Amino acid sequence: MADVENVIIIGSGPAGYTAALYTSRANLNPLVIEGFMWGGLLQQTTDVENYPGFPDGIMGPELMTKFRDQAEKFGSKFITDQATAVELSDEPGGVHTVHVGSDVYRARTVVLAMGAEHKKLGVPGEEELSGAGVSYCATCDAAFFKDQVIMVVGGGDSAMEEAMFLAKFGRKVVLVHRRDEFRASKIMLERARAMENIEFKTPYAPTAFLEGDGAFKRIARLRHSETGESEDVEIGGAFIAIGHMPQSEIIAGQIETDEEGYVKVDGRSTRTNKPGVFAAGDLVDHTYRQAITAAGSGTQAALDAEWYLRDTPEVPTPEGLPVGDLAKAQWAAPRAT
Ligand code: NAP
Repeated sequence: MADVENVIIIGSGPAGYTAALYTSRANLNPLVIEGFMWGGLLQQTTDVENYPGFPDGIMGPELMTKFRDQAEKFGSKFITDQATAVELSDEPGGVHTVHVGSDVYRARTVVLAMGAEHKKLGVPGEEELSGAGVSYCATCDAAFFKDQVIMVVGGGDSAMEEAMFLAKFGRKVVLVHRRDEFRASKIMLERARAMENIEFKTPYAPTAFLEGDGAFKRIARLRHSETGESEDVEIGGAFIAIGHMPQSEIIAGQIETDEEGYVKVDGRSTRTNKPGVFAAGDLVDHTYRQAITAAGSGTQAALDAEWYLRDTPEVPTPEGLPVGDLAKAQWAAPRAT
């Protein structure tokens, strides 16, 4: 049977890898359950121009590889697989369990950093055409729709950003939003409106996506939000930009979340309602959602976990596992700085 780890980090975006970097530099030998698609949403982007320290910009996947390499350099261990279930202890000093399929891992502290995923419309054809005409990432897929008519769905800043990016590739971008008012910031809306090949179509919402005829041709079936009238629009592809959903399924019923599923933390800390369980990044934050803010909260979670291990007396496991040896060694040794 495995020892009990000091820290298990679930997730591998900027929050997860930064928590790994800090806890590994504190000699806590963190175990990162990073998923198959490690690196989070930044793996789906191209140029990142707003991450400090890279004045010429850096590609998203390259940035995430650097995050991972830096955490590995100081002793982080990785499991490139999905966490499938957790049992989180209610007891201060208790041991938490994380399942990865049939494998079981235990730890004194857990950092939840599973991030968020793109929200789906949930209409017929969306899933079937996903990756084949329906996309959630303009920077990943725009090049497939060169000179075509491209639909963007949504009325927030993400939709404006996607539309403006896609307008450089497509013949025309049709931006479909279910209301006449927009949630997007004024400046983003004005910029999008100023682009000649972006057409605004409101108040409409897609009710289905269908195969059309000819290469790359799809049909978006739209419904007028007020009259209920239906209209078919022929498109090359559609990009859905209606916000994000926190990936909090595996902690449902154990960790307190808000009504949208974002984890609730105690004040400005990363402490959740369970002792020894901390949360960081987009799983908590539906406002800022930047790589740099996620990395910052990963740092906070690492420090919260480190202080918790230092200050919380251990509760022995029923099986008499060799609990906390690494933590004891850590506190006996001089502090890494
Ligand atoms: P958002 O602000 O929550 O906007 C989501 C949009 O999608 C809303 O207009 C919403 O319509 C629509 N929507 C939601 N569910 C829908 C459904 N089932 N069917 C049709 N439409 C639906 O999300 P976001 O645009 O991703 O932005 C999130 C945050 O990131 C914001 O704080 C934003 O400012 C920030 N952000 C900033 C930038 C930037 O500054 N460069 C870029 C991207 C994002 P309703 O309005 O009718 O609810």
